[in-house]
Amino acid sequence: MNNNKHGFKLISVVIPVYNEEASLPELLRRTLLACEQTGCDFEIVLVDDGSRDQSEAMLLAAANEPNSHVVAVILNRNYGQHSAVMAGFETARGDLIITLDADLQNPPEEIPRIVIAAAEGYDVVGTIRQNRQDSFFRRRASKIINKMVKKATGQEMNDYGCMFRAYRRSVIDAMLQCQERSTFIPILANSFARNTLEIPVHHASRENGDSKYDLFRLINLMFDLVTSMTTAPLRLLSMLGVMIAGFGFGLAVLLLVLRFTLGSTWAADGVFTLFALLFIFVGAQFIGMGLLGEYIGRIYTDVRARPRYFIQTVARPGVQSSSGEKL
Ligand code: UDP
Ligand code: MG
Repeated sequence: MNNNKHGFKLISVVIPVYNEEASLPELLRRTLLACEQTGCDFEIVLVDDGSRDQSEAMLLAAANEPNSHVVAVILNRNYGQHSAVMAGFETARGDLIITLDADLQNPPEEIPRIVIAAAEGYDVVGTIRQNRQDSFFRRRASKIINKMVKKATGQEMNDYGCMFRAYRRSVIDAMLQCQERSTFIPILANSFARNTLEIPVHHASRENGDSKYDLFRLINLMFDLVTSMTTAPLRLLSMLGVMIAGFGFGLAVLLLVLRFTLGSTWAADGVFTLFALLFIFVGAQFIGMGLLGEYIGRIYTDVRARPRYFIQTVARPGVQSSSGEKL
């Protein structure tokens, strides 16, 4: 067998597993088949995210089989999908790492296509779910968030919610250097990728069990996404403050003009004037909060301790260049 068909020495498939005992046998069978089709060496890293069913035992059994390609990573409790995937990244040794869900909503049969796309030289290969099989509410919410992210980052990616993705080793190494606890992996990865590609893939409905995301966890995930991308919402406070104070100031001027043109009875004994003053002070408070926000935003950026920059390649005369090398 040609072990190096696409230029990758080893492909790692990282799958987070949380109470997925019903899907696991089928998942393992199909993923194994799909990986064999790539013609590359591979490992399948399954991360048990504190499951309370038989998932853990099943993963350990799969890893202990002779000549197994399965690496089982068992977390002590439930940390959430993105943390589980990060734990998988830490364990994975491949130079191309593919993530997918354990519930078979991402058909593993698409893995070879993703590998081929990555082999064209892309750092990150994302996927767009065709005929997405999720609830109307989830699809709408996704659409709005994806549009927002596109606007904020200016990156041409359409489906950030889909975790069926491939990352090159350099991007994984950069992500592992980030210290933050709340991560949204596709956004984080894009900030370290030089070139990205998105390909359409099929999407299946969930056969076994329910989605692990209830409304509360979805809202939490959305905040993880927004805060991992930008501290701009903090700046909104100042802008709001300027708007409120401006409105108050305008109102005060208007009142003054009306007072002189229409007389003192019109001004209702200064009640409106009080409103104008109130707006100005409320506005000033918001501006103050926004100012604090600017500092908090910078503290937050420092606390995350993301690499300040990421060197993709260094080319020196006479020395062969290498990817992701640090100076
Ligand atoms: N998952 C996890 N930890 C969690 C929640 C989910 O590891 O706390 C895994 C889950 O087993 C699945 C993937 O993340 O492999 C996606 O979860 P799910 O299918 O419930 O999300 P949805 O498809 O509804 O977005
Ligand atoms: Mg799912």
